[in-house]
Amino acid sequence: MEIKRVVVGKLQTNCYIISNKNDCIVIDPGDEYKKIKKAINNKHVLLVIITHYHFDHIGALKYFNTNVIDYKCSGKYSIKDFEFSIIHTKGHKEDSITIYFEKEKIMFTGDFIFKSSIGRTDLEGGNFTDMKKSLQMISKYDDQIIIYPGHGEKTVLGDEKKHFELYY
Ligand SMILES: [Zn+2]
Repeated sequence: MEIKRVVVGKLQTNCYIISNKNDCIVIDPGDEYKKIKKAINNKHVLLVIITHYHFDHIGALKYFNTNVIDYKCSGKYSIKDFEFSIIHTKGHKEDSITIYFEKEKIMFTGDFIFKSSIGRTDLEGGNFTDMKKSLQMISKYDDQIIIYPGHGEKTVLGDEKKHFELYY
């Protein structure tokens, strides 16, 4: 599995393209469709996953005519060579999800967890109590998991857990 990060739009949102052979999954096509399309190259887009519906994560969604997976789709998926689960992690927004690739030990967290910080809860759809619950829940996962956030650099769950308790 190959992961490409394309930084798009005014808020420098991370759009991820995860490829396996000739197929790919696009996470958060936030803006700048041309740039995303270039990174997709000629791969077949199996589906688009939206971590949450804030404008900076969905700006280029309208250009895709594939299936969309979002908060309505909690559960386990096995599509071609991709295996992942959708975990509802609300707090930043009521529809925030985390995409977990268990075998690869990778999570795409959207605006839930960033490197050295967490998502804001004072925006539309945010809730601090939900955020605390989501942080407690995600703390039960393995320290080695690599986190690919919706903005900024990737990190490791074990490092982030250390500051979660500041919010409890
Ligand atoms: Zn957001």
